[in-house]
Amino acid sequence: MPTQPLGPLKILYIEDDSNSRRLVQRILQAEGYEVHVAEDGLTGLELARQIHPALVLTDVNMGGMTGHEVATRLKEMQETKHTPVIAMTANMLQTDREIALVAGCDGYITKPIDIDALPGQIEQFLAGAREHVDAGVKVQRLEEYRNTLGVRLEATIADLQHANNELRRMDKMKKDFVVITSHELRTPATLIYGYIKLLKMETDQLSMGEHFDMIVDKILTATQRMNDAVDAIINVSLIDSEQLELTAKPVDLQDVVQSIVQQMQPVALQRSQKLYMSDMSALPPVPGDANYLRKALSNLVDNAVKYTPDGGSIGIEASVEFDTMHLIVSDTGIGINRADQERIFEKFYVLEDSAYHSTGRSTFMGGGMGLGLTVTHGIIRAHGGRIWVDSEGQDMERLPGSRFHIMLPMTAPVKREATLAEK
Ligand code: ADP
Repeated sequence: MPTQPLGPLKILYIEDDSNSRRLVQRILQAEGYEVHVAEDGLTGLELARQIHPALVLTDVNMGGMTGHEVATRLKEMQETKHTPVIAMTANMLQTDREIALVAGCDGYITKPIDIDALPGQIEQFLAGAREHVDAGVKVQRLEEYRNTLGVRLEATIADLQHANNELRRMDKMKKDFVVITSHELRTPATLIYGYIKLLKMETDQLSMGEHFDMIVDKILTATQRMNDAVDAIINVSLIDSEQLELTAKPVDLQDVVQSIVQQMQPVALQRSQKLYMSDMSALPPVPGDANYLRKALSNLVDNAVKYTPDGGSIGIEASVEFDTMHLIVSDTGIGINRADQERIFEKFYVLEDSAYHSTGRSTFMGGGMGLGLTVTHGIIRAHGGRIWVDSEGQDMERLPGSRFHIMLPMTAPVKREATLAEK
């Protein structure tokens, strides 16, 4: 018998019928036992590992694992191999009882439960009473049990495969839905953006007054933000399904970085930030997709601006190391804790409580969807490259800064599967 701590004896009752669970629990609690219940076999096994019961009562015909299978597992588990397991069954046939015993049960109690007899039966099993199978039929019953297990295993695997296929189908439907809706949104969003820009050009000439200009500017910024969000969703879903379509050509990084710096310079000026790039004029071209590489890098620069307070500096450097292009986007911002340095590349991962996000896209700690780094990571991976971040940790006072490193192969072709897809 396993040693039990002082105090009431623990009994675990595994039963999928809630009425039976309540009834047995009440009867045995009234007898002074500490009764734990589980609705199914798997939960019961987990509970048994935790509480080390003095006795396990289990229903036989349950959904999921049957009582016999639970008994077999309990007898294999270190924590419970000596614990008496009692099957509760309505099956009165001798063969059913014998199968329960060869499966690992030490006895059985028939259902419906006899309220008056139950405490005495439990007491007997706790005192060491055990049922036995005749040696003559044991081998035969074991064989029958093994056959049942085989059939159940096959049916369970078939069910799981079916469920898995169904999940895949639904996942594909969800991904397709995201791609289709984002594309549907992109068309009108691009149109709106174009017309607002036109409107702005006209109003700039007509001098409609500060208030009007301010309204047009706000619509322009909001539309740009909506476009960026739609683009990020499209890119993430393409990356997710390995459908990012890269057009690989030799890319002049100096051009790419210069265009990013030019684009971000007004924002950096507004924030009194210094934005600089190293001399890239002597760099050889890298094989890749210029548009996607621009996107990947500008996400990093966007973030660097966002997470660096006014007056800080942001640098973009590039150098060739053997057959690899090494790019670094560094900032003098708030930094990133080591524990978060891998997770920030996951989808929708944002460190700040969104309630604290300020609304501007480039304002200090301005809000984002948590997709920028996922997109950048996906693009770099599709180029056969690597990306990681190096920072001492997050500190709003000390501002340790962050350094995002990208390694791009100079020779290896762009990853094959990334080019297969149709958009
Ligand atoms: P978001 O669109 O919210 O900026 P990202 O995927 O670009 O999402 O970034 C994920 C998170 O990583 C950000 O919410 C931010 O907390 C952190 N992060 C990214 N870049 C930096 C950086 N340069 N400095 C500090 N934190 C950063």
